[in-house]
Amino acid sequence: MAGLAAAVKLSEAGHLVTLYEAASHAGGRCRSFHDTALDCVIDNGNHLLLSGNTAVFKFLKTIGAEHTLVGPKEAIFKFIDVRDGKRWSVRPNMGRIPWWIFCADRRVPRSSWVDYLSALKLFYASPNKTLTEILSPSGRLFERYWEPLAVSVLNTPANQAAASLLWPVFAETFGRGGYASRPMIARKGLSDSFVDPAITLLTKHKAKIKFGSRLKRIEKSAGMKHIKSLVFADQKVSIPKNEAVILALPASITGSLMTEVKFPAVHNPIVNVHFKLNLHQPPDSPVNFIGIIGGTAEWLFVRGDIVSITISAANKHVSKSAEEIINLTWSDVASALGLDVNTPKQARVVKEKRATFAQTPESLKLRAKTNTDISNLKLAGDWTDTGIPATIEGAIRSGYAAADSILNN
Ligand SMILES: Cc1cc2nc3c(=O)[nH]c(=O)nc-3n(C[C@H](O)[C@H](O)[C@H](O)COP(=O)(O)OP(=O)(O)OC[C@H]3O[C@@H](n4cnc5c(N)ncnc54)[C@H](O)[C@@H]3O)c2cc1C
Repeated sequence: MAGLAAAVKLSEAGHLVTLYEAASHAGGRCRSFHDTALDCVIDNGNHLLLSGNTAVFKFLKTIGAEHTLVGPKEAIFKFIDVRDGKRWSVRPNMGRIPWWIFCADRRVPRSSWVDYLSALKLFYASPNKTLTEILSPSGRLFERYWEPLAVSVLNTPANQAAASLLWPVFAETFGRGGYASRPMIARKGLSDSFVDPAITLLTKHKAKIKFGSRLKRIEKSAGMKHIKSLVFADQKVSIPKNEAVILALPASITGSLMTEVKFPAVHNPIVNVHFKLNLHQPPDSPVNFIGIIGGTAEWLFVRGDIVSITISAANKHVSKSAEEIINLTWSDVASALGLDVNTPKQARVVKEKRATFAQTPESLKLRAKTNTDISNLKLAGDWTDTGIPATIEGAIRSGYAAADSILNN
């Protein structure tokens, strides 16, 4: 997404762009593929966006795919505690003044409006503090609000997650009211929304797109101030002085190509399970998704006859067999959707072992800046120093920042 966003911005501004991608397809960690076991297109992982993700919507508008994200008209987050079957919804009101915290039926059960003011503590959180050092884990909202939020947004357990990184998310979405905190997903799939229309636009702008091109080495000028050439397995590409390079690679790959760049080296996995079901009851909204408390998964999504669950910060589960993960998570699905407990036969487990960097206070110090000491080299990627978590929003912002740095030069 970082590379695509940068390429789209530069080609829209009239620059001739060449995109080199190691894989045979675009999208990186945000893509769809045809799964032979389920015989349908699935995403590598469920991706939840919020209506307040400004860069996401700007990008989608540019590539003509704004309409492909769907979600409920209001900000509504349904939850179930699978231990006792209790269900509730968190429903922020649409405007900026958060009167919903005074309505018991819009809040987490047994929480009080005063509990929600604890969000303000995030504003003052030192970058060195974890979420549990800022918000008490014994607080009434912790297990049913802050913990699931931290784990899903930061892909890091609450006792390790950098509290300060939650504030910008909160300020840009929930803090702006329901208009900015409506949950959204890609209607058909991630590639249909984010990737294919971007490639179409780039092709229209005569950008060259070279799949299967893995960057192996970077050669710098004698004074080390300029990128001279990019070395791929099958070719060496010279970079004239009036051209620039954006490396929009995962953190560790950037670090291996540029030993002088510091990068967050610890990553956390995300595991998704996609179940193919014959649901008798069609979902009651375009996005039917439920937060799960007290189970193995955190979120469950229903899209047509595919029910998918997400386990974030899945370090405990990632080495389990697919069968074990399917059985564990099916009980969450069965409880949440009130289905038969027999596990369906058709299921696909997708393990993304390095889904995002572990968003801890230590890692924040290692996020790289867009500009480097090399004048024609910019860095992008969700792990760079965007000031927000490693998400699609962050990846797109990083790509825009790299493109802007070239455009403003
Ligand atoms: C399972 C899962 C669930 C997620 N859920 C959410 C969510 O709900 N909401 C959200 O906003 N975000 C979510 N994210 C995070 C989001 O997907 C990422 O932040 C974003 O896609 C990162 O984009 P990127 O461009 O920074 O990196 P990448 O997608 O990793 O892109 C890097 C690209 O570089 C290519 N590459 C690697 N090495 C080379 C090389 N040597 N030469 C050339 N090319 C190379 C890769 O193939 C890849 O295409 C999730 C991620 C995962 C994995």
